[in-house]
Amino acid sequence: MKCPHCDTPIDEHEASRCLDAWVDFVVFGAEPRIMSNGQIVGRKFFSTDIAAAWEVVSDFTGRQYHVRVDGEDAFAYSAWSCAIYAPLRDEGDGPIGEGLDTSKDLNARMASAPLAICRAALKAVGE
Ligand SMILES: [Zn+2]
Repeated sequence: MKCPHCDTPIDEHEASRCLDAWVDFVVFGAEPRIMSNGQIVGRKFFSTDIAAAWEVVSDFTGRQYHVRVDGEDAFAYSAWSCAIYAPLRDEGDGPIGEGLDTSKDLNARMASAPLAICRAALKAVGE
């Protein structure tokens, strides 16, 4: 999947106002705003502000997704990962509360937690 604004693949998209706008639209349905200088922005700094990123996490957990955010210091810098798993659903498309759909690779391992959350969120929603 690629950014609708700058055509950058999700795994290469850095934290930016452009990524914020992408997350805001896909997760919250908010249309991006275009500033007078042409820059596209979301309502909040989801990819750089952990408080805003946590609103993304809360949105998924509120819809019964399972969200895991892990930090590690195994390399020369802190690495953060985020995985978002959809709840398994029965044939009526309702959550059944047993196990989680791990059929998709929804991990995003990044140097910052907000960026990891943003990439995982886009992957969780996108097809
Ligand atoms: Zn972009």
